[in-house]
Amino acid sequence: MTNGNTSDQYTFQNPVDRFPTITPPKQDQPEPGLDATLEPKTDRGEESYRGTGRLEGRKALITGADSGIGAAVAIAYAREGADVALAYLPEEEEDAREIVRLVEEAGRKAVALPGDVRDAEYCKQLVADAVEALGGLDILVNNAGKQVAVENLEDLSDEQLDDTFKTNIYAFFRITKAALPHLPAGSSIINTTSIQAYSPSPFLLDYASTKAAINNFTKGLSMQLAPKGIRVNAVAPGPFWTPLQVSDGQPKEALPEFGKDTALGRAGQPTELAPAYVFLASPESSYVIGETLNVNGGMPTP
Ligand code: NAD
Ligand code: MG
Repeated sequence: MTNGNTSDQYTFQNPVDRFPTITPPKQDQPEPGLDATLEPKTDRGEESYRGTGRLEGRKALITGADSGIGAAVAIAYAREGADVALAYLPEEEEDAREIVRLVEEAGRKAVALPGDVRDAEYCKQLVADAVEALGGLDILVNNAGKQVAVENLEDLSDEQLDDTFKTNIYAFFRITKAALPHLPAGSSIINTTSIQAYSPSPFLLDYASTKAAINNFTKGLSMQLAPKGIRVNAVAPGPFWTPLQVSDGQPKEALPEFGKDTALGRAGQPTELAPAYVFLASPESSYVIGETLNVNGGMPTP
């Protein structure tokens, strides 16, 4: 909790100062970054998110669920009544333990499934393990992502190009493909894209390209699966304070200004994204198909 604001997401309040304007110190973490050592801390709704039974009895697999946006979604899903399988990298065990604890504290099952989504075999095994441990699957959140800033295309290594595409888009295809045979009608697939899909930063060419691909994948797949009763949608975050940003996601000199260029004038906190993922997972969005829900503090998109 960054500012002691424990009022829940239904409390009438001014979005400008629901969370403080942060000026993060320049800092560096090796990839993947950890929430445990991020300064300032993020707000993932630990003390504020209030569930109202919107996902009662549901079974969700969330990738990148140990930290940042995925962690906020895991907390929200559990408090809305869902059991949750959490995918993350083995190096993130410390962060993942905390989210497992919070899911269990909500009275739901938490299944920890560490591994590397660049590995095609892991993508298959992850789904098989989640299905077995949860007794099925009806929500898939493809959220794991790699973002490393490189100023000039000449300096973008082949290795990074490969890793970014494998993590951010190949894995979305592979995990979704493995999940399909298990998803009953009524299921939801939600993909994390980005404002970068529309407004690419010049130093994020590889990352932004994958985010545009995710939008396109979401819209095409949604048409394929709608007749089967499976809805596919995306969420496009603007600038949210998470460990992604300090593990070379932003140029170091940009960190203190992070998120200040939004209409609200501040970076988002991960918990502010959770209701979008809850809405798209829940039956209340039954007629919402192939949509990208922008949650970006005021950065108009096409
Ligand atoms: P984060 O670092 O907390 O989460 C990213 C997660 O991706 C990590 O926790 C890690 O578990 C996972 N991951 C990365 N490489 C992996 C690999 N090879 N194998 C398995 N897991 C891997 O940061 P976040 O900001 O919460 O990012 C979540 C998603 O949100 C990403 O897709 C990111 O692109 C997207 N996004 C973030 C922002 C933002 O401002 N933070 C904006 C737009 C989109
Ligand atoms: Mg993490």
